[in-house]
Amino acid sequence: MIFSIASGKGGTGKTTIAVNVALSLPKGNVQLIDCDVEEPNSHIFLKPTFHQVTSVGIRVPRIDESKCTYCGKCAQVCEYHSIAVILKSVLVFDELCHGCGACSYLCPEKAIFEVEREIGIVQEGNANGVNFVNGVLNVGEPMASPLIRKVKEKIQKDKVVILDAPPGTACPVIETVKGSDFCMLVTEPTPFGLNDLELAVGILEKLNIPTGVLINKADIGDREIWNYSKSKNIPILMEIPMNRRIAESYSKGIPFVIENSSYIFHFQELIEKVEKLYESNRGRPRIE
Ligand code: SF4
Ligand code: SF4
Repeated sequence: MIFSIASGKGGTGKTTIAVNVALSLPKGNVQLIDCDVEEPNSHIFLKPTFHQVTSVGIRVPRIDESKCTYCGKCAQVCEYHSIAVILKSVLVFDELCHGCGACSYLCPEKAIFEVEREIGIVQEGNANGVNFVNGVLNVGEPMASPLIRKVKEKIQKDKVVILDAPPGTACPVIETVKGSDFCMLVTEPTPFGLNDLELAVGILEKLNIPTGVLINKADIGDREIWNYSKSKNIPILMEIPMNRRIAESYSKGIPFVIENSSYIFHFQELIEKVEKLYESNRGRPRIE
């Protein structure tokens, strides 16, 4: 089962939940993949030993000026405006290029060749019986989605796979959650939490991914998250109260199931609920 954990906004405790769920499952049968490649932080809590680091790049175009006729076809086909033909010169804006290859494929003079440009790395390791993978995007690099795709190539389908998604509702989140069997949204009972939850639910509905909600700091704020979830028929999978000991564990970089093992049982129950919901949704068409 591929189980993604997302949130419409940052700071809801999504990564903390992902790490603690992973540590609560039987050792050797769980894989945690940190897809928040712009700001990966699951490893801070999990402290894995990495045994493999792989460079990831995308192929960007370069122009053989001896063949180019400056016809402008490459600029016309580029959807991302990452190539421009101005007078007798072709400009390539590497940071905008998605590496789709359309320009080199369609150049009538075969004047375009491609070179690899590194955008980040994928790291693989283990911690406490959890198979762990993360991606680290180079500083200043805007292309998160190709790296997330590479990170997701490491999915081991024979395990319970937990995908820790980036916060928000932009392309990197969609790249992470698409193909998931289930997505749990972590939120807080505040007006901001509700607004961002609504946005995230809208995306998951479009992707046809079954959804549940975990309410963190459930004893603060108002009851609007409960009302909204009920109106959308979205199950509340778990509620975690505001708890000083959890906050202290977080500030020390220690997963709270290690300091308070009673939560292991709660997270196992959570996964059982998710598995039942997954089974009841099996066969539903998925968008890969
Ligand atoms: S399509 Fe090829 S020949 Fe035409 S401007 Fe671009 S690189 Fe030059
Ligand atoms: S590879 Fe694709 S995105 Fe990059 S410049 Fe060519 S057409 Fe544009």
